[in-house]
Amino acid sequence: MHRRMVLAGLGYAGLAGCASGPAALTTSTRPRFQPQPFARLLTDPGRLSRITVCLRPFRAQGPRIEVERVGDKRVVHNYGHGGSGWSLSWGSAVAARDLALEGGQRQVAVIGCGALGLTAALQILRAGAQVTIYATERTPYTRSARATGVWSPQSRLSLEGGTDAGFPARWEAMARASWAAHHSFIGLDGDPVRFIDTYELEDGSGGGGAVGPAPVDTSVRFQHLRGQLTDIGPDGRDLTADEHPFPVASALVYPNMTFNVAEYARQITEAFLMEGGRIAQRTFHAPSELAELAEPVVVNCTGYGARALFGDESVIPVRGQIGWLTPQPELTYGLNYRSISMVPRHDGIVIQANGSGERVGYGIDDETPNRAETEEALAVLATLYRER
Ligand SMILES: Cc1cc2nc3c(=O)[nH]c(=O)nc-3n(C[C@H](O)[C@H](O)[C@H](O)COP(=O)(O)OP(=O)(O)OC[C@H]3O[C@@H](n4cnc5c(N)ncnc54)[C@H](O)[C@@H]3O)c2cc1C
Repeated sequence: MHRRMVLAGLGYAGLAGCASGPAALTTSTRPRFQPQPFARLLTDPGRLSRITVCLRPFRAQGPRIEVERVGDKRVVHNYGHGGSGWSLSWGSAVAARDLALEGGQRQVAVIGCGALGLTAALQILRAGAQVTIYATERTPYTRSARATGVWSPQSRLSLEGGTDAGFPARWEAMARASWAAHHSFIGLDGDPVRFIDTYELEDGSGGGGAVGPAPVDTSVRFQHLRGQLTDIGPDGRDLTADEHPFPVASALVYPNMTFNVAEYARQITEAFLMEGGRIAQRTFHAPSELAELAEPVVVNCTGYGARALFGDESVIPVRGQIGWLTPQPELTYGLNYRSISMVPRHDGIVIQANGSGERVGYGIDDETPNRAETEEALAVLATLYRER
């Protein structure tokens, strides 16, 4: 009571003592809100530190998440997530976990240490099982480490007419569970997950076309389901010309969920190991080798590797290439322009020339980098940064 009266008195006296205070804060002395400055992307090809290529493990039917008996093992497949593996990982892991533990077994082997293997292993471990990951490669050598790192839950995931009637609902459940789980990594050291403003830039009719390769197979029709998720995620906003510095006819901005994949994979790996999981380096050459494992349940998260290991020719490669510019910590926004995407990550700035759309790279298993493709993209991005 006394303290409140003193505080109240002080407050009154304070106001009385500086009667001119609030009035003195005129518009000329009051600090101004400032729009965030736009750092310039440095597009010199000399800043390219590496070019990586990765094969998306695509299936017309969508990811394979189901149980198969192989000898005396209960094998839970969890592969074939196309261009959506990071995005859908946690939701897919929940489905794989439930199938793995359904028979009451509590010793589980997970094959694969990419996005799908790591998240499935952690989910199963946290459900009380003993889990060992067996894999040829771990982070940062898996294909998952070569992903762009954006929320893309329906990118190159399935073909129109390729899925069963229940797939849209299963996909939606996976996507919603993943969206929620990714949020638990926002704000952690190293920003494993964060939102960045991303600018969609459009030229007027005189502008150039899409930059990047053309598709080999133009008959491919990917299924698009994103409409079912329109209620999650922040909205975009059209910009007026004085709200951005880019010399384009129109622009909109939206906050995009991005994954700093190097840090994200490290944190999931560390959590798995600290909570009692084990990782062993091992390559399997045939399903019959699973019989050598002590664990009665095996979760197969081999991604594109499932094609060779399980002879599953429904897994189609969709090639994708990234040029990595050295990091620019001051660059805090991403953009998409003429099919080129730029995502600033802590481990490098991702430059991707997506050419004439998602079909690019379909059926191509060549992981040889093409530097000319990246340099062309950089030359086009440079035009956005010319002084007006
Ligand atoms: C260019 C590009 C950009 C992408 N961008 C995004 C994005 O922004 N967002 C998104 O959500 N997704 C993106 N993706 C898709 C995503 O990268 C994949 O869906 C995901 O990496 C697949 O993960 P995975 O764990 O199934 O496979 P992988 O990462 O390939 O992991 C497979 C694991 O299995 C092991 N393995 C394989 N075969 C064997 C074997 N026989 N014996 C033992 N171990 C084996 C491997 O060593 C590895 O550990 C992108 C893909 C590409 C190519």
